[in-house]
Amino acid sequence: MKKIIILGAGFAGLHIFYKIRHLIGKKIDITVIDSRSHSLLKPSLPEIAFEGAALSHSLVELRETIENRGATFIQEKVINIDAKNNELTLKNDKKLTYDYIFLAPGVVKDYDAIKGFRKFGYSVCDDTQAQKLYKRVKKFEGGKIVTGSAKSTWGSRVDAPNLKAPCEGPIGEIMFMLDYYLREDKELTRNVDYSIDTFTPGEVFFEDVGDIPRAAIGKIMAEKNIPLHKNKVLVEIGKDFVAFEDGTKMDCDLAIVIPPYSAPKFLLDSNLGDEKGFIPTDMHMRHLDFNNIFAAGDITALSQPKLGHIAVIQAGIAAAALMKELGEDIVIPPHKLEVFCIMNMGGYDAALISSDALYGGSTDIVFYSPLSKMMKWGFDNYLYYNKGHMPPDFALEASDKLIKIL
Ligand SMILES: Cc1cc2nc3c(=O)[nH]c(=O)nc-3n(C[C@H](O)[C@H](O)[C@H](O)COP(=O)(O)OP(=O)(O)OC[C@H]3O[C@@H](n4cnc5c(N)ncnc54)[C@H](O)[C@@H]3O)c2cc1C
Repeated sequence: MKKIIILGAGFAGLHIFYKIRHLIGKKIDITVIDSRSHSLLKPSLPEIAFEGAALSHSLVELRETIENRGATFIQEKVINIDAKNNELTLKNDKKLTYDYIFLAPGVVKDYDAIKGFRKFGYSVCDDTQAQKLYKRVKKFEGGKIVTGSAKSTWGSRVDAPNLKAPCEGPIGEIMFMLDYYLREDKELTRNVDYSIDTFTPGEVFFEDVGDIPRAAIGKIMAEKNIPLHKNKVLVEIGKDFVAFEDGTKMDCDLAIVIPPYSAPKFLLDSNLGDEKGFIPTDMHMRHLDFNNIFAAGDITALSQPKLGHIAVIQAGIAAAALMKELGEDIVIPPHKLEVFCIMNMGGYDAALISSDALYGGSTDIVFYSPLSKMMKWGFDNYLYYNKGHMPPDFALEASDKLIKIL
């Protein structure tokens, strides 16, 4: 029986678990380790921040989910991996050995890299930040809102797109949802006067998609009077301003930002990452230096942009690669990435974006309609009620075909 460890039970870790769990007791035993008791479904965070949705609906309890399916769950932080000896260390000093390990710890949202963030800044990137933002928006008495992504930097060991922002979909949700609720939801806002400005560290906004979604987003921003400021690298948030690397400042009463993404320190300490700590893998998601280490999701150097959809594609590949190695009759899917996300815009509106333009493909679609909102609602609920299990492939393929027809 091979000992498998899955480190991290987010989008990637849970998908790997569901893909390989049928082998438990036959060929493998599985231990899932996560420092949290619940997996956080991050695509619902903007609903918590702007609609006051219950946090509990974005959480998947892990112990029962994992242990009812025959595996072991350990709630503890991993602080080191000794890859040469196939051993990891937990924060409580316990050591565990493995035959194979899947690394899926996601990224660190590095709020402290932005001067003044802890005192004056807001975000939607985790449950604490989303709930804090909801309270702030409820008390908002008008003024200038500024939103945008800080710049992230990546390693260079593998060949992947070098995006300046990890993913700007959440910025789209922040500006459109906030604009909708400040205009339409009288209970939330009490008719306040406000303006929204958006900045991007990139030369273009939404650099991970092609011209069609980008133009559609630009048009909606123009209709809603949301100016875009390009090439702006955030360095500081003050009481009434945001400051950029080029020396410019903007007046700001409420700054809502996506912080830089960085790799967890323990991966750098364990010498498993590239120069920035992201895991270098081949196209089967196998570590370039260690045959028995696989990785998937935000932590991989190949994952650009940092998107749940990409985490799931990579998790499927990593799971198949392991199964093949264990003698299963399985074809490893190609590492064919695409951007696929549904951007909530408040009320009944959402924009579904499907694009592989970043990877040289020809799909570049945006579908802006209440049907997109229904699809998001359906997807989020499916994930929640099925304990983080992805909808079956045929449902995803059917929705993809439907969008192309529409
Ligand atoms: C506001 C927001 C909205 C988003 N919306 C979308 C969307 O609509 N569609 C989409 O596709 N993507 C979306 N994303 C991106 C998506 O959430 C991420 O790409 C995805 O969660 C990455 O999955 P992952 O498994 O790599 O990491 P995560 O989901 O972050 O999971 C990592 C897990 O590892 C655990 N962990 C980390 N370090 C350790 C350690 N040392 N020891 C033990 N456990 C550890 C963490 O507790 C966590 O549970 C959004 C992101 C944000 C912030």
